[in-house]
Amino acid sequence: MTMQFQTSSQFTRYDQKVHIYSQALLNNLNAVRGLCKPETKLCAVIKANGYGHDIREIVNILKKGPVDFFAVANVYEAAFIADLVGDTKILILEPIHTAYSSDAVKLCAQKGFHCAIVSTQALQFVQDCLKNTNDKLNVHIKVETGMGRCGIDAKKAAQLIKKIRTLSNVCLAGVYTHFSTAAEKNLTYASYQLENFKKVLSSQSLLACKDVLIHAANSAAMLNMPEAHFDMVRCGIALFGWVEHPDLLKIKLQPAMKFEVPIVQLNHYKKGQPIGYGRTFSAWRDTVGAIVPIGYADNYWRVYSNSAFMKVGDSFAQVLGRVSMDKTIIDVTDIPNAEIGQYVTVIDNDPQSQCSVYRLAEIADTICHEVLTSLPARALRIIH
Ligand SMILES: *Cc1c(COP(=O)(O)O)cnc(C)c1O
Repeated sequence: MTMQFQTSSQFTRYDQKVHIYSQALLNNLNAVRGLCKPETKLCAVIKANGYGHDIREIVNILKKGPVDFFAVANVYEAAFIADLVGDTKILILEPIHTAYSSDAVKLCAQKGFHCAIVSTQALQFVQDCLKNTNDKLNVHIKVETGMGRCGIDAKKAAQLIKKIRTLSNVCLAGVYTHFSTAAEKNLTYASYQLENFKKVLSSQSLLACKDVLIHAANSAAMLNMPEAHFDMVRCGIALFGWVEHPDLLKIKLQPAMKFEVPIVQLNHYKKGQPIGYGRTFSAWRDTVGAIVPIGYADNYWRVYSNSAFMKVGDSFAQVLGRVSMDKTIIDVTDIPNAEIGQYVTVIDNDPQSQCSVYRLAEIADTICHEVLTSLPARALRIIH
């Protein structure tokens, strides 16, 4: 069987350093486990290049800790980490659809990937792809309970389960759902979804099935809805040390990543001199600006223009003028020891920092997930 999965042809930017802290990841994993019953399984969600950190490095670190599953978004990510995971299972969250190649379905079965299914057509397609093989595909039925994304309606789920029991190449390994509002302070809607899910489970007597894994909770539900843990929790963001409401946290999480770039030039601007595209900023005093080699092409977004900070030594320096494609200028007037070659922090691993993921997400009006998944893949990774 041939299936081509391209390895990266990307070069590395050795001047941009993403530090990954292994012990922080493992501590977060243990802290999360501490909130669950000992028998609850833990699925580490590492889609989107391990939340931007680097999926293969994250697998290598987390597999040393108590992880039962790695969850990825698609078959390409699953194939990319398959040789690294050892005994840990891989769950693919994107449901199998009939646009999958038959090779991809065969690969999933041979490698033992657990795959989501949301329709009888997809189930029949899997059976057809595997019919002349002895391979069995482990499937998890994803139930739509109110998220309004992918999943099978509760009423049809029963039919799907019945059908699985008639197929020789498919095995029911799990049933799950996903919450749309578990990160909100008001959990009324999440509880409604939970009740919908429980109805499906009880109508099919699934809670009594030892070999069918029931799972629903993402990081937010893992933290806020212990009644939604079931057999396994699926945690992404919390493992990387960030959550939606740090003020409500009952455990200590440590950010697992810091991003740094060097100062490559120092400019002395006279009072009144404009800085950057569009002259959106003019020096209101004699100003020293430091140029750093990162811009919107590195997902250091334009919305950070005149607003975000970087950390220089122990001080914070504000972005001056517009972020350009590959360069940004920061104000080091009050940081006299700033020098060319010195590394400054773009994203800090201190939650209180002015350039924490929390602060950057706030400026960009987004969530921590998007800040993390925007980390440039071509920046050097340094594993500590
Ligand atoms: C991404 C994802 C998760 C993990 O979400 P976090 O908020 O990062 O914990 C869990 N389940 C599903 C289905 C997901 O798509």
